Amino acid sequence: MIGLILNSSSYENEIRALMMAFFPGEKIVLDAAPDPYLVRVIFSPDAVKVTLEDTAGVLSENEGPCDFSDYKLAKNTLKRIAYDCFSRYTKKVLPWGTLTGIRPTKIALTLLNEGCDDKALYDYFKEEYYLSDEKFRLCTQVAKNERAILKDMDYDHTYSLYVGIPFCPTICAYCSFSSFPLKAWKNRVNDYLDALFKELDYMSGISTDKQLLTLYMGGGTPTSLTAGQMDRLLGKLSSIYDFDKIREITIEAGRPDSITMDKLKVIKSYGIDRISINPQTMKQETLDLIGRKHTVEQIREAFAMARMAGFGNINMDLIAGLPGESAVDMENTLAQIESLGPDSMTVHSLAVKRAAYLNQNRDKFAITPQEEVNRMIGLSFESAVRMGMAPYYLYRQKNIAGNLENVGYAKPGREGLYNILIMEEKQTIAAVGAGGSTKIVIPGENRIERVENVKSVKDYIERIDEMIARKKRFFD
Ligand code: SF4
Repeated sequence: MIGLILNSSSYENEIRALMMAFFPGEKIVLDAAPDPYLVRVIFSPDAVKVTLEDTAGVLSENEGPCDFSDYKLAKNTLKRIAYDCFSRYTKKVLPWGTLTGIRPTKIALTLLNEGCDDKALYDYFKEEYYLSDEKFRLCTQVAKNERAILKDMDYDHTYSLYVGIPFCPTICAYCSFSSFPLKAWKNRVNDYLDALFKELDYMSGISTDKQLLTLYMGGGTPTSLTAGQMDRLLGKLSSIYDFDKIREITIEAGRPDSITMDKLKVIKSYGIDRISINPQTMKQETLDLIGRKHTVEQIREAFAMARMAGFGNINMDLIAGLPGESAVDMENTLAQIESLGPDSMTVHSLAVKRAAYLNQNRDKFAITPQEEVNRMIGLSFESAVRMGMAPYYLYRQKNIAGNLENVGYAKPGREGLYNILIMEEKQTIAAVGAGGSTKIVIPGENRIERVENVKSVKDYIERIDEMIARKKRFFD
């Protein structure tokens, strides 16, 4: 636990985020005594002083002028002052410097769009945020790729659709999604689909002036459905939307233990070419430890089956920083992924939310140190380059391992457009199904309205009319 004392709460969130980056896993308690540390932030009208203390006294301190007339500049200045204070004592250098936000590429994109050249961009990120050279290269490369992909995007006349299937074969220890074990819900899947169809029927009556640009089926693991149920669902969707006119359709086939040739054939019969098969790691001990309940061999088999079924655009997700894993494990995993040859690869840094089993049982899992996770991330970049891929989307999360990032890499033309759109928040994304979160972009107002569906399958089935009524308030 670390105590935090501030004489103004204006920048509390920023200080907390930076403290979490320097002292991962520590609880931060306002106005508490040092245990083992205390951070004190004292604002004066034109300066700020940050001290790091323990019970014996001051361990590190830093002070500097701060112009509070500009909130953003003051925030950046304060974070640099705090960063220097913490870094001096911990001897840590954070790869992302003082940047703690979830979309660092947005800053690069804005500056690029304003005409900033590489040198000016580099100087800005170095001086303003202490960004490392490695993350600067990554951030700007992603921003440039994003800009090229979104160049002709017509946000006002298109939208995307997310379809949530919240079932999985088993629940992974780190899972933070709305997902339910199929075994317990098997008898309600058809009821769930009935409710989902009702919501889709409502959705089909709106957005008539807009073209559906991307459709993403996630969850959960959509391939937890039987081949018959998948056929029913895709039949329904294709009766509402003309699949030939949708630029990108993706179905998450995340868990290899949910993939069968029958299901792949059903998906392929609707002309869908993009799926995601997600090993997370190719180390069997880790798969067992995190409750994936499938083998490494099943991953290889599922991938081969998908290629045999004719899928030409397969993504694979990996996680850096899984409990007990080292850079050597990551190297082995990447070597095996390279031998499979996916079309895109997404590398996540482990992010554990409070409710996840892994977080509730931290004593059972060895946490991978930040430096090691960073090495793993570096290795995955090199591997992506060897596979002919480039990074095209990037985001960070709270509680992410090593305060690092999630990066999507793809071969040219195989990028997941939906992944970029959901990060950009410039296009309306309608979501149906339990746990679905609809984001409606209000044109000309730079504002987003959110409509949330309930997360529980039972509530979703029983309260489907209420879910539709929630949407009606915004769409009708
Ligand atoms: S496969 Fe994904 S959604 Fe399903 S339990 Fe594991 S982490 Fe959660």
